[in-house]
Amino acid sequence: MKFYWLCDVASRHFSGWYEATHKWSLPGAHCPKCDAIWSTHVDAYPSVDLSVLPNPEKYAARLEEDYAEFERLREQVRPLVPEGVPLWPGTEFGPLEGAAKGEFSPLVLCYPWTLLMKREAVERLQAEGLAGLKGCRTELRFRKKNPPELLELELSPLGQLHPDCLPEGWPGPCSKCGRSGFSLPEAPILDAASLSRAPDLFRLAGFLSLIIGTERFVEAARRLGYEKDLVFRELPLK
Ligand SMILES: [Zn+2]
Repeated sequence: MKFYWLCDVASRHFSGWYEATHKWSLPGAHCPKCDAIWSTHVDAYPSVDLSVLPNPEKYAARLEEDYAEFERLREQVRPLVPEGVPLWPGTEFGPLEGAAKGEFSPLVLCYPWTLLMKREAVERLQAEGLAGLKGCRTELRFRKKNPPELLELELSPLGQLHPDCLPEGWPGPCSKCGRSGFSLPEAPILDAASLSRAPDLFRLAGFLSLIIGTERFVEAARRLGYEKDLVFRELPLK
């Protein structure tokens, strides 16, 4: 099986754009062990509703200095998300809320870590029998009549980068907060053993801003004419 990174393009054909944030977010954290202050506003679970929690106002883009409190807030969310979700600081939840304008391609990658699709595109790709396509409603406001219905794909994190492409001498993630602290290698290589049970579309757990599609996904998307304003870049496996 081949794997492809869904990349944005330098110059777009469609005018569509949006500025939006998810309704809730785990706060950023200050790690008492490695002293990093960090959050990842990349991993998102748009179907997860935090309004059922006793204190949803604490789930906002802010810094929680008390690490034990951060852990408490995170554990409150855990029963609501799929098993195995890492729940890093800054993980986002709920629908995308914000403003949108212009014309959109069937697959929308305005931000490389967030994949939207028109409803028809999700349904046609699902009809191809692809696994891992969960389209969630967004709350994007358009000022025009008959706006498109854009769904956000909720992507499971799975798979790792191969150690050969990681920085030499990298000490591994922080044992307390899990932060990796390296930037994306220029030539990413996927760790084949970590992808044996991959669905057709997922987020790379080892570097969350990478959205990965299988050969089956890419073939179907190309056949349906969906390779517009994004490109499928094959990544080597090892
Ligand atoms: Zn740490």
